[in-house]
Amino acid sequence: MLDTTQFNELKASGNLPSPSGTALKILQLCQRDNVTLTEIIHVLQVDPVMVGRILKLANSAAYGRPRPVIALTPDILMSIGIQGVRQVVLVFSLVSAHRQGHCPAFNYDEFWSRSVATGVAARLMGTVTRLAPPSELFTVGLLANIGRLALASLRPERYGALLAEAGGPFAPTLSELEATTFGFTQLEVGTAMMRDWGLPKLFTDAVLYHEAPEKSPFQPGSRGAKLVDCLHFADHFASLCFMKDGPRRAGLAELLLLANKLDVADDAVLALSDEILGEWREWSAMLTVPVHELTTFTTLANSPAAKEIKTHADPAFPLNILVVDDEPTMCLMLQKLLTAMGHTVHVARDGTEGLNMALKHQPHIVITDLMMPRGDGFALIQNLRSHQFGHYVYLVVITVLGDHDNLARAFELGADDYMAKPIETKVLQARLRAGIRVIHEHDKLRKDQQELQHRVLELTIANQHSSEAALTDVLTGLHNRRYAMERLTQEWAKTERSQRPVSLLMLDIDHFKQVNDNFGHAVGDAILRQFADVLRSFARTEDVPCRFGGEEFLLIAPDTNLKGAQQLAERIRSAIENKPFVIARGVLPVTVSIGVAEKTAHQNNLETWIKAADDALYSAKKSGRNRVSVHAI
Ligand code: GH3
Ligand code: MG
Ligand code: MG
Repeated sequence: MLDTTQFNELKASGNLPSPSGTALKILQLCQRDNVTLTEIIHVLQVDPVMVGRILKLANSAAYGRPRPVIALTPDILMSIGIQGVRQVVLVFSLVSAHRQGHCPAFNYDEFWSRSVATGVAARLMGTVTRLAPPSELFTVGLLANIGRLALASLRPERYGALLAEAGGPFAPTLSELEATTFGFTQLEVGTAMMRDWGLPKLFTDAVLYHEAPEKSPFQPGSRGAKLVDCLHFADHFASLCFMKDGPRRAGLAELLLLANKLDVADDAVLALSDEILGEWREWSAMLTVPVHELTTFTTLANSPAAKEIKTHADPAFPLNILVVDDEPTMCLMLQKLLTAMGHTVHVARDGTEGLNMALKHQPHIVITDLMMPRGDGFALIQNLRSHQFGHYVYLVVITVLGDHDNLARAFELGADDYMAKPIETKVLQARLRAGIRVIHEHDKLRKDQQELQHRVLELTIANQHSSEAALTDVLTGLHNRRYAMERLTQEWAKTERSQRPVSLLMLDIDHFKQVNDNFGHAVGDAILRQFADVLRSFARTEDVPCRFGGEEFLLIAPDTNLKGAQQLAERIRSAIENKPFVIARGVLPVTVSIGVAEKTAHQNNLETWIKAADDALYSAKKSGRNRVSVHAI
């Protein structure tokens, strides 16, 4: 695994792909929640090439403008949105700065072309399934493989040799080779870079697992799991874009399955896939990345060789039916009858084959015999009902007249209906009609549930975003001042009742202004983030670390008396003093002054308590900085 120190070292080497100066400035600006469009324009205007690209985007079909725009105004930016601008800037600057490199075995053009395809596929699939805003999905998809570029830049020779050994940058064995050779994989370094550029953790985690969704730690059905599936789909889609028609047609079945997993039906997938191809061309042109012509997916799917991959028929008609029976005459008879009624019929000779075919063809109805040599009907029913999709299959068993015991057992295991041998056409038709009714009801129920889940999810995400954003500091991810004040009020009231101790640490970085003056604001920000990491690592579960403002932090320590708080403060002070703060030009010494105050009976209100900590901080500063002062009671 790649840890933070290792990543910082890689970053400090200066060989990691990174966005241009303007782009970095915009990324930082956009992390502030009070950034204005005018400020963004101000920074952008220093870089005419970037302005040109944004105008090009604003004029692209995606924004459907009546007249072309020729100047960057707040209105134009507003229509793209701040996040949109941020993404475009990041993407444009990365692509243009890394169109070639020193790794001879790495095809830079193909890398970017494929990345653009992944980005567009993630964007459109994620939009249909309402997973996240389109521009964010595009960036996440486009950057999903940025670690490959990073390895090609960091270790051109060694990585080139690995590529040759594995058989290309997308060979399945590559990630194992990366881990043994470098100690980390392209996905690990890629996601660390994305985090560094400010992409949310949910997205970078999804990227980390997108090549092997089965290993992802997300709850099935959660937003995270769906993002993983969405990126997995996008990755598969992009790989299809680099295949000839034959293999691409063969890969279509898997594409449909991956999309079905996200609840997108076959017909919709084909339309969506062609839309992705269109956008792929547009984005490639905008980014001046090479692109090649491909037969549309609809054409590919409708060619005769592809017919059999369409498995999910409309539940209305014709039905997709699986017949499982070891008696050939029975199978033949049912197959003839059902086919004559217009349904699609698959036949299996025993329960084991039946289960495999059911998984493959996902039938609406399974008609099964009970007594069969290999895997009987009971086992089949039980297995089907234990699979997700098998819950909704309509199960009809074929029995011998009067075999009540077996019939009862079949119903207990989950059969829906039965028919006694010999089978009459009329009875069969009546049973199917009953089945269709149930299937329709299930289908409706499932759609309603999905709709409901979508709504709940949307609401939850919206609420989470707004409440988290309001109480979180964007730069460091710590609680912000507003949260700190709310929490202090709560702790104050709580200890008034419980009489338990509670202490407050107020921390202020020493001479921080000089860091900004000497190294620039960006380095200052990086130091603030690393400082916050240290604070977080020292906070026990009940402690509350907050950014109180600028370079000032608070740590609320419940159940801690003055002595305990003083010891904690001293540990933090010493950790900061001894930590190498990594910046591009090396490491920087940083120290902190800390004021500590316990809540006491002398204090009338919260303000007095905070002032006590502030006074202690002031005296720490006055007596020479890099020290802990406690407020004498
Ligand atoms: P002292 O030891 O007395 O605390 O000196 P100081 O320089 O740390 O204190 P001062 O309060 O004079 O300066 C704080 C500086 O912190 C000023 C401001 O530029 C910087 N600062 C505040 N917020 C941020 C931020 O979000 N990012 C960066 N990079 N700098 C910030
Ligand atoms: Mg300071
Ligand atoms: Mg200060």
